[in-house]
Amino acid sequence: MSARAISREPAAAERLLPRRRGDSGTLRAMLEKDLRSGRWQEGERLPTERELCVQYRVARNTVRRALEALEQGKLITRHVGRGTFKSSNSPSAPTDPFHIDSIEAFSPADVIECRLFFEPGLVPLVVVRATKADLDRMSECLKQAEASGSLQEFERWDAALHDAIAVATHNHAAISMSRSLARVRQQAQWGMLKARSMTPERKAKLQAEHRGIVAAFRNRDQGAAHRLLRDHLVHVRTYMFGESSPGLQSLI
Ligand SMILES: [Zn+2]
Repeated sequence: MSARAISREPAAAERLLPRRRGDSGTLRAMLEKDLRSGRWQEGERLPTERELCVQYRVARNTVRRALEALEQGKLITRHVGRGTFKSSNSPSAPTDPFHIDSIEAFSPADVIECRLFFEPGLVPLVVVRATKADLDRMSECLKQAEASGSLQEFERWDAALHDAIAVATHNHAAISMSRSLARVRQQAQWGMLKARSMTPERKAKLQAEHRGIVAAFRNRDQGAAHRLLRDHLVHVRTYMFGESSPGLQSLI
């Protein structure tokens, strides 16, 4: 066992893991990130299973399953009696197109950027397919957000409104994708970013934007709904993360 490998701290993993103990998918995502970020050199031996259990605070089985997945992805090689090594060909190995990172691996900035492209894309379906019940659900979310007494409650109804918009597409793949993205809202980091940037004026502005979006859907006005939803997400992104990153402005 290389003393060098043991002595290194498990970077971001330590901070994130207590929330999802025992989840081999989460551990796999963390180890994959560490492998790709160069925490270990090609051909270098990784800590033993037992050491990984201690470092990442997970059960032996969890470590074993995560290592199996990484081996299948050709990121590591394992030799009985010798240990686990970072593959020397790992950068060129094809990634598994069916692998989905767990939510801990998504950054709020990535998620909001993705929503910026994804949610306005749902508008044409919503305009055509939204039923009266869908539109009433959106209005109910607006009303509840308006009446919310805390930031947490507002955030919950804000999320519910965006979910109601996805539901109104009546496309189950779109609804599922929207919900995967929405899960980032459960992260502590998202809550902190929202809380840090939220003022009563901002909350009022967000509500006004929400009202405009729902009104455009009620009017079946595709152009207005698309523009208002996109502007709303740009606004959320800007106040959470500052000005747009290079390249984004030209795309939206
Ligand atoms: Zn919103």
